[in-house]
Amino acid sequence: MNRPAGVPLVHVSIDRIVEEGRDVKTFVLEPAPGSAARLLDYRAGQFLTLRLPVGADRPVMRSYSISTCPVSDPRLAVTVKAAPGGPGSNWLYEKAVPGMTLEALPPTGQFTLDESDSEILLFAAGLGITPLYSLCKYALASSDRKVRLHYSGRHRDTTPFVGALEELERAHRGRMRLDLRLTGTEGRLDAGTVRDVVTAMDAPTTYVCGPPAYQAMVVDALLAAGRPPASVRTDPAGRPPRTR
Ligand SMILES: Cc1cc2nc3c(=O)[nH]c(=O)nc-3n(C[C@H](O)[C@H](O)[C@H](O)COP(=O)(O)OP(=O)(O)OC[C@H]3O[C@@H](n4cnc5c(N)ncnc54)[C@H](O)[C@@H]3O)c2cc1C
Repeated sequence: MNRPAGVPLVHVSIDRIVEEGRDVKTFVLEPAPGSAARLLDYRAGQFLTLRLPVGADRPVMRSYSISTCPVSDPRLAVTVKAAPGGPGSNWLYEKAVPGMTLEALPPTGQFTLDESDSEILLFAAGLGITPLYSLCKYALASSDRKVRLHYSGRHRDTTPFVGALEELERAHRGRMRLDLRLTGTEGRLDAGTVRDVVTAMDAPTTYVCGPPAYQAMVVDALLAAGRPPASVRTDPAGRPPRTR
């Protein structure tokens, strides 16, 4: 991604780095000293674009969904998977350390919560969880809406945020439901299960984020189950499957 003309860069410091399982790390960020904090204001579901100094004279711009909630988390964070041979993610994974300052474009993106009071259904696969984790926390913290999250990951110990999501479900019993599908043992989500989940709910707004083939299958199944297209939101970035 190139830097859009006229958009100011904001300086962010890495506050801490959290290991989320194999090859996934969360980078907790804060405005660098002297940098305007309001430039890091964000809405749940948005993304941040970092300028990463992978080589002295060749920085790369890479976008990352924000995995935190602007209401319930004290700082903004992004969660990154190492892509083999990928310059940006590998720089973050191997070279970035707490205290380091990076440049970023201010948060942006349209994958944000609708303003209705309908139930919310979230379908995530792999690292597609990042914006949906943000939306889930935000919906629970700022509304009375019911949230159901269907989350596919290969194995429990390599699937980010499972413990935190189970904790959220316990804290919001009756309002939040987590359906974790471990595809390494249970196989991949299929259209019949998508239909069963959505028809058990009361006209939800649905958000879908994962590899393109996953997103396509879930959206097709939702539409085939009679859900109106306007009630189905997908991650418009269409991120490549290898980063999920
Ligand atoms: C809106 C948005 C949100 C995103 N959110 C997240 C997120 O939350 N977490 C996350 O981890 N990522 C996210 N991404 C993806 C992220 O921006 C980067 O694309 C990702 O980190 C990989 O960047 P990279 O520089 O490491 O690798 P890239 O340069 O993008 O390459 C990725 C992979 O492709 C291979 N490759 C590149 N070029 C070639 C080629 N010509 N031939 C063969 N192989 C090639 C590389 O070796 C590497 O394995 C998001 C992207 C967008 C657009």
